[in-house]
Amino acid sequence: MISGLKFLIARYVILLMPLIFTFLSFFLSANTYLTETDINKKIELAEVNKRSNPQLLKSILDELEVQPALTASQEINIDLLYISYYIFVGQYDNAEIQIRDLLSKNIDDLTRFRANYSLIVVATATKNWLQGFPVITKNSKILPFIEDITHIQNYLLTTIIFYNQLGQYSLALSYIEQFTQYDLSAIQDCWITQLSLEAKFKLNKLTLNDNAIDDGITKCVNANYTIVTNIIRIYKTKLYLQNDKPEDALNFIQQYLFEISNTKYPMLIAEMSNTIAKAYWKVGDTTKSKEFALNALAANQDLSNVLQGVDTYYILYQVAKKQGDSTLALEYYEKYAEIEKANLEGEKAKHLAFQLAEHKAFEQESRIKLLNEKNTSLTAKQALAEAEVANIQLVIAMLTLCLALIILWGGRFYKAHMRIKELAEFDALTGAHNRGYFTHIATSTLNYCKSAAQDISVIIFDLDHFKSVNDTYGHATGDWALIEAISVCKDLGRQNDIFARLGGEEFCILLPSCDIRTAALRAEQCRQAIENICTENSGHDFKITASFGVTDAKTSGFELEKLLADADEAAYNSKKSGRNRITVFTINEESEQKQLDSSWSIT
Ligand code: GH3
Ligand code: MG
Ligand code: MG
Repeated sequence: MISGLKFLIARYVILLMPLIFTFLSFFLSANTYLTETDINKKIELAEVNKRSNPQLLKSILDELEVQPALTASQEINIDLLYISYYIFVGQYDNAEIQIRDLLSKNIDDLTRFRANYSLIVVATATKNWLQGFPVITKNSKILPFIEDITHIQNYLLTTIIFYNQLGQYSLALSYIEQFTQYDLSAIQDCWITQLSLEAKFKLNKLTLNDNAIDDGITKCVNANYTIVTNIIRIYKTKLYLQNDKPEDALNFIQQYLFEISNTKYPMLIAEMSNTIAKAYWKVGDTTKSKEFALNALAANQDLSNVLQGVDTYYILYQVAKKQGDSTLALEYYEKYAEIEKANLEGEKAKHLAFQLAEHKAFEQESRIKLLNEKNTSLTAKQALAEAEVANIQLVIAMLTLCLALIILWGGRFYKAHMRIKELAEFDALTGAHNRGYFTHIATSTLNYCKSAAQDISVIIFDLDHFKSVNDTYGHATGDWALIEAISVCKDLGRQNDIFARLGGEEFCILLPSCDIRTAALRAEQCRQAIENICTENSGHDFKITASFGVTDAKTSGFELEKLLADADEAAYNSKKSGRNRITVFTINEESEQKQLDSSWSIT
């Protein structure tokens, strides 16, 4: 019974297993999902430990990896932590992929700045010098917008190391100067001092008496930064060797043998052993020299990326040669030559990379200069064009002004000219030609008619008793009468008749192509017209009459004076014979003058 029950339960459990398993796995996995605050705390913890505890960093990253809901900022922080981790463990390819991925995202200036300087670290570690230069340029452009001093210092530090490794020590020193303007922690101060001493040492700017070395050592001792302290001590040892003081070199560095070995830092141990081997070689202790050279070699073997040992193999070659072991000597020499070659190629690559970068910078500068020049020339051209436009506008304005003045003056001049012409040619009151002008045109008309054998006649008339009009009705009424008399006569005339006021109330009409009969008829028409003038418009009621004298060229000839004199004589005869009549001049003396009264007819 019990066993039957057990069987039943077991069966159910087996049947329900998948369900239970699913439930448990859900329950367990649900427990690994963190809240936003927890995730932030984890990120913070990883950030603090990223340089000292890569294992912890990795485990946090693994945990964060499975979180389903991360904010954008959390994702970016995790990316940055991955970059730190990959760099720390020397997985530079992964680091670069992660950096490039982050840089392709929409990130703020600070994140871009951090990703960029991580790329400088990768470039330095992988000796990809060409990759480093553009990133340094990019970050130097972002730098003014970065406020976080820690990251600014990190960037400057990575750039200094980049330039020192590349062998561009002067550039490194210029970045060191930028770095020292910030408040530095003891460790940072020690580190930057070491980098500065390294650059100066490589530039042969350090001497044994230089206080900078001892100051640097003191700084780093106080900062308790053993590795860096001893790197500086090795510079000092090398300086002793350079100054042919191998004993001093040995006395100095041997004090720190144990301390250096204890750091377990292969590069430092290799460097120290190598320097001591050289010192022993110089003092003639081949055994010790060989011992330390082999120590250096052993330490170097652990180094994957750092190219060391060129000096070491040379020492070992020299020792083997001295000891008469030619096979070993050759072996060491081959190694030395191999590393030397690689070293030279590395140096060549560095040199080439720098030259390329310099060239690119030069090109960029030239391009900027060219653009500036273009801009300047464009600005100049624009200014020139503007000036030209302004000049043209000025010229147009001046021409317009001149034109306006010309028109104005021309108008005035024309008016004045017309006025002068008028004054010169016409009588101001009646509008008939004045005597002077009449003489001028009458002469030329007579000459023309003479040469063309055409008739030409002259009528002269004088208003009757005009003095009494003036006297009775006033001078203005007299003027009015004068104007009216000429006006009515003009209305009767042809277009080419020439009217003139010979003086006072005496007028003349020159009639080209007009024989005496027609002229007499015209005179009669004028007489009648004057006689019929209605004087009411003058405000007075009076009579206007005129006495006429007519002659022609056939009778009096083509001389103006003679024609006028004869016509005047005929007019005088009209006056004499009772006024308001016309008289045609005849050659026969006074007795023969034919007197015509108002009834005269041409028929
Ligand atoms: P007669 O019939 O003999 O020609 O007599 P008359 O009065 O017309 O002749 P007289 O020579 O004695 O006088 C002419 C007058 O004409 C005198 C002068 O005052 C007048 N006279 C001359 N010129 C003008 C003028 O321009 N305007 C006016 N209102 N009178 C003028
Ligand atoms: Mg008169
Ligand atoms: Mg008169």
